[in-house]
Amino acid sequence: MHPELEALLALQEKDQAVTEAEDALAALEPEERTLDEGLRAAERALEAARAQIQAALDRRGELEGKIASYRTMQEQRRQRLEWVRGAKEASTLMAELDLARSVLAKEEAEFMRSGDAVTESERKAAEAEKALQELREAQAPLREGVAGRREAIIAQRERAVTGREQAAEAVSPPLLGRYERIRRGKAPLALYPLHGDACGHCFTAVPTQRRALIARGASIEGCEACGVLLYAKE
Ligand SMILES: [Zn+2]
Repeated sequence: MHPELEALLALQEKDQAVTEAEDALAALEPEERTLDEGLRAAERALEAARAQIQAALDRRGELEGKIASYRTMQEQRRQRLEWVRGAKEASTLMAELDLARSVLAKEEAEFMRSGDAVTESERKAAEAEKALQELREAQAPLREGVAGRREAIIAQRERAVTGREQAAEAVSPPLLGRYERIRRGKAPLALYPLHGDACGHCFTAVPTQRRALIARGASIEGCEACGVLLYAKE
């Protein structure tokens, strides 16, 4: 085999190790995303439950104010009743008092229910808080596991990059340039073994004479169709 091709093959191997580490890092992302999404959902549920408490408190306060003003009005009617002289006016006031009493009773019942709503929303918020806490605890070992794997892969990638740099030094600059150009192209790799009498990447037939050169290691030949560099597998 051509001596420079051997150095190139070693470089390609290191590049594949770098790619492998990068793929492994990317593969961790969906796992982390799932954990983050779960956490965000639990946080949103807690926020919504807390907003419900506030809404229930507001409603209760509103009813409280309404009831207080109804009571004041009732008191004013009672006072007026003490002073009225005419029977007709008195009976009108009595009817008003009765009507207002039943309205007030309804509002008071509503006020009691609004208190229950506050209690209920507080219970739900406490549940949501507990659920969030439990999720955090359940996620802790998973997150630790992902972080550990990430660290190991990053170390592996650093080793692969160092190995890659060393391997690149063994290749002459013009050939390295050619290799890099091919790598930026469509083919996943820059070097492919001959597949019978064809290119191992695109399977286009390689002329006999060039195949002979490749087999002897006399020169570095590229595929005429796809441009990858070809070598003969031992
Ligand atoms: Zn080809």
